Amino acid sequence: MSASRISRLVHDEIQALRAYRVEDSTGMIKLDAMESPYGIPEALRSDWLERLRTIDVNRYPAPDASELKAKLREVFRIPIDLEIMLGNGSDELIQLVQMAVGGAGRKVMSPQPSFSMYEIIARYTRGEFVSVSLDDNFELSQEKWMDALKKYSPDCVFFSHPNNPTGNLFSPLLIEETAASTDGLVVVDEAYQAYADHTMMPRISRFENMLAMRTMSKSGLAGLRLGYMAGAPEWLSQLEKLRFPYNVNVLTQESVMFALEHWSEFNSSTELLCTERERVTQKLQEFDTLTVYPSQTNFLTIRLKKADANQVFEDLKKTGILIKNLNGSHLVLNCCLRITIGTPEENNAVCEALARIL
Ligand code: PMP
Repeated sequence: MSASRISRLVHDEIQALRAYRVEDSTGMIKLDAMESPYGIPEALRSDWLERLRTIDVNRYPAPDASELKAKLREVFRIPIDLEIMLGNGSDELIQLVQMAVGGAGRKVMSPQPSFSMYEIIARYTRGEFVSVSLDDNFELSQEKWMDALKKYSPDCVFFSHPNNPTGNLFSPLLIEETAASTDGLVVVDEAYQAYADHTMMPRISRFENMLAMRTMSKSGLAGLRLGYMAGAPEWLSQLEKLRFPYNVNVLTQESVMFALEHWSEFNSSTELLCTERERVTQKLQEFDTLTVYPSQTNFLTIRLKKADANQVFEDLKKTGILIKNLNGSHLVLNCCLRITIGTPEENNAVCEALARIL
C-alpha cells in the first residue's frame, strides 16, 4: 500500500478528519445513540411483514415518493405552503444543504457544542466552520451570537432545536432574529421534536431563508434511515438537484408509510419515554454527586461533580451499559455524560449502576 499516493490524492481536509465513531455495543444495554427502545409494536409486526411481501424489490423506489410525503404532511402537520424532501436519514439532508450553500469560500455556523455532523460535513465539503460557544449552563448568549453573525456573515446556520448533546431548546425568538438578520440560510434541525414542546415548523414560511428538518430515527425507526426537510419550494427545488434519484429505498418507504398509518401507537411509546425521562431526571436529582440538566429530548445530559467521567463511562461499560462520554469533546462538556432514555428496566439499571459507581 502506497501511503504517499494516498496522502497525495486524498484531500488534506479529509485526511485531517476523524471518522464518526460508533462504539461496539454487542450484548450491552444500549443507551448511547438516542434510539428508541421500542420499534414496530409486536401486535403490528405480522401486518407490517405482510405489507413488505408485496414489494417488488426488482424495481427502483418511487422517485418522488409523493404518497409518503402526503402522509408525512398529514401526520406531522406540515403546512401546505412548504415543500417536503426526503433524505436517507437527516444526515444526508445536512450534507445536501451544505453541498448547495456551503463548500469552498463559504461559512457554516452553529452554536457549539452541537450535533457533530454540521462541522464534519463543513470540513469535508471544504467550507469554513465557525461557532459560538454555549455557556456552562448550555445557554446561548444572544449578544455573543448576534455579534458573531455580524462578524462572520455565515452562508448557512444550523440550530439543533432541541440541541444534541445538551438537550435544551434555543430561544425561538433568537432563531427568528437570526433568520431576519442574516443573508444566509437558517436550518432548524428538529431531530428530537417528538420529545419537545416547541417546533418552528408553523413559522418557517414567514422567513424566506428558513428550512426545518426532522427524522424518524428517534421515534423507533432509526434502522430505516428516513429524514425529511420542509421549506419553500424555491429552496427545495434547488436541493432536489443534489439528491440521488433513489436515495430512500423501497423497504424504508413502505415501512414508514405503514408506521405512519399506525402513528398513535408510536406516539404511546414517545409518551412513555417522556414520562421515563421525567422519572429518571428526578431519580438522578437525588444524587448529590452530579447535576442533571433539563431535557426536551429522549436523552439526559449529566455533569459529574467530582468523579472522573472517563472512568465512570468505562465502569458503566464494564457493567454492560453503554452511554455516551461527552467529556473532552468540548470545554463546556467537561465531566459530562449523555444517557439515552431506554425502557424502565434499562433506566433503572443505569441509575443503580451510577449509584454504585459514584
Ligand atoms: N440531527 C441531530 C441533531 C441528531 O442528533 C441526529 C442523530 N444523532 C441527526 C440529525 C441525524 O439523524 P438521522 O438518523 O436522521 O441521520
